[in-house]
Amino acid sequence: MTTSNNAAADVHATVYGYPRQGPNRELKKAVEGYWKGRVAADALRETAAELRREVWRQLADAGIDEVPTGDFSYYDHVLDTSVMVGAVPARHRAAVAADALDGYFAMARGTQDVAPLEMTKWFDTNYHYLVPELGPDTVFTADPAKQVSELGEALALGHRARPVLVGPVTYLLLAKPAPGVADGFEPLTLLDRLLPVYAEVLAALRAAGAEWVQLDEPALVQDRTPAELNAAARTYRELGALTERPKLLVASYFDRLGEALPVLAKAPVEGLALDFTGAAAGNLADLAAVGGLPGKRLVAGVVNGRNIWINDHQKSLATLGTLLGLAGRVDVAASCSLLHVPLDAAAERDTDPQIRRWLAFARQKTAEITTLARGLAQGTGAIQAELAANRADLASRANSPLTHDPAVRARAAAVTEADTRRSPSYAERVPAQRARLGLPLLPTTTIGSFPQTGELRTARADLRAGVIDADGYEERIKDEIREVIAFQEKAGIDVLVHGEPERSDMVQYFAEQLTGYLATRHGWVQSYGTRYVRPPVLAGDISRPDPMTVRWTSYAQAQTAKPVKGMLTGPVTMLAWSFVRDDQPLGDTARQVALALRDEVNDLEAAGTSVIQVDEPALRETLPLRAAGHRAYLAWATESFRLTVSGVRPDTQIHTHMCYAEFGDIIRAIDDLDADVISLEAARSHMQVAGELATAGYPREVGPGVWDIHSPRIPSAEEAAALLRKGLAAIPAERLWVNPDCGLKTRGWPETRASLAHLVAAARTVREELPRP
Ligand code: GLN
Ligand code: ZN
Repeated sequence: MTTSNNAAADVHATVYGYPRQGPNRELKKAVEGYWKGRVAADALRETAAELRREVWRQLADAGIDEVPTGDFSYYDHVLDTSVMVGAVPARHRAAVAADALDGYFAMARGTQDVAPLEMTKWFDTNYHYLVPELGPDTVFTADPAKQVSELGEALALGHRARPVLVGPVTYLLLAKPAPGVADGFEPLTLLDRLLPVYAEVLAALRAAGAEWVQLDEPALVQDRTPAELNAAARTYRELGALTERPKLLVASYFDRLGEALPVLAKAPVEGLALDFTGAAAGNLADLAAVGGLPGKRLVAGVVNGRNIWINDHQKSLATLGTLLGLAGRVDVAASCSLLHVPLDAAAERDTDPQIRRWLAFARQKTAEITTLARGLAQGTGAIQAELAANRADLASRANSPLTHDPAVRARAAAVTEADTRRSPSYAERVPAQRARLGLPLLPTTTIGSFPQTGELRTARADLRAGVIDADGYEERIKDEIREVIAFQEKAGIDVLVHGEPERSDMVQYFAEQLTGYLATRHGWVQSYGTRYVRPPVLAGDISRPDPMTVRWTSYAQAQTAKPVKGMLTGPVTMLAWSFVRDDQPLGDTARQVALALRDEVNDLEAAGTSVIQVDEPALRETLPLRAAGHRAYLAWATESFRLTVSGVRPDTQIHTHMCYAEFGDIIRAIDDLDADVISLEAARSHMQVAGELATAGYPREVGPGVWDIHSPRIPSAEEAAALLRKGLAAIPAERLWVNPDCGLKTRGWPETRASLAHLVAAARTVREELPRP
């Protein structure tokens, strides 16, 4: 461990959490092995303990002198919190009583007989947590065993360690009413019952040797009601008043604390951890405005914990210098847990070494944090070499041809308002599209992908392994397209798709073909549980050297007289599911991506495609956490979508697709996309979204899903017809489409065949019921 020999400036370097998977995804393998019965519980526990030891050792070696504990998880840290406070749903209690570990996984994944907890996104990251289910009857009981034993492990190894817990306010704000509990139930009303349980956990950690405990309250960076802010004030007043407790560090991240900052600054806790990166940089001025944190510990999140670019040390040192005057003591950290970034950029041996130096994954970030802590404690003289290297790397990035393609920049700069508008208007386009497409009322279609079969995965693996060449692969994809087209024709679907067999992922497929994107070999990050993804890196100026999808769509169209929909991923989703460059506004990056996609849209049209779908499932999920940021975000998001599609003729029909139904707050923005048709998830909520769109006066064509594709269940024709009739009560037949909720790539062929047959039958039945014109 490094310790500062400058007694005057006692600065610690720390992090709030670290990737859990291990260098070769050992945790995933062990957990999945356990599920399959191939790995014994003890072996799984030993692998987990070994991974924790390894993380702490690495952190300590890098100079992180206070390591986090309790951030490790077999599946999810919010689920761990539910276990810690005894919030086990009734339907899982038997499994938990029979075996704690199996019960834990039953809550996470469900069993043959019981459904799992619901999963949703952790704030605006791509990590998903398991939603606590609470009700008026919930009884909390403290189970600090995991936290206590992991702290014990770290202390026994000689580390200075700080347990990290999800804070009680955030825990309740992330929860939802348990099934059967009235929707109006507010979990936050359980605060009085929950606080004594946290008090017990804190006492247990104190007894186990914790000097500090960190309570994460990221929910406080969102817009909060006065009642919620009061709950936060009360929480920390009460926890602060406990006698048997460690020192408390209340942490927030992902945005500025805003109105919650004065609340926490006044609370009787010993420290706050704040994010000073990106949108959260406003915390600096806010902190000065409340008079700082005299006598308290401030943990300054100056290194971005959720993106993969190297830090700007000069800028961080300036922030840290200001903060020194605002708190009793300042420590250096990443802005949030490093869970959201991959492990080690040094493993990216295929990446140009020059470009690799721009990347900072978890391991590089810990080094950045300790460098800054040293600079803060001992003066910049102590980190001369690091500062020089940092300046050189930043300059190399700023001056690289990858980040500055003059042609791309000139084209983006020349975009006018008119380029982002289709003309004529939607109302005038409708007759042109009707005449060209000649579709029946209630036209049937699908969302794009068909089942990704074992043969397709084999074909991709064979291509990678050199078993087949590019031509051989192309042949296999074409075979699949022919089958998918023949199936849809026979099934009687009106607007066909080619099935997306060439894509393993809707973002990666395009990223691989666009200049300016990088792929990683080992850049895995946890999406949920044992599922890891490797987001592409949007590193530079974006352009499209060649058409990306035209040959597949054209090949499919050549097999049928019915229209085949072209299928693209929209600019907002391309950004949302990538690591995005941080050296220019997101809107500028989105515009470049939109121009590249616009070329593809125009090429599809020129090749004879009459219907083109541009998917934007991420539009709602990247909405900024605070309402104050919504307008600006929606402006560039909708503009980039329109720029993508506005180069087409009036009689070319533009579709879009989103995978969710809760968008009351963005209906205006969805209208602003100026798409001709939108398909949405609606089956589970029984078409509720159709009514909402109608109420909002949404004027366009809509395909609310009638088949819930997230479940293996096959909807009957009668069930689908009933949903359609509900849809018709809100949306007139001239504007209603019939389709599943989402793409079919996760479904099998048998259920796809049966469900689509029922969907077409339902459309025919309901068409018959329409009044004759
Ligand atoms: N076109 C994509 C598909 O069908 C859409 C996927 C999505 O919305 N996430 O798979
Ligand atoms: Zn979808």
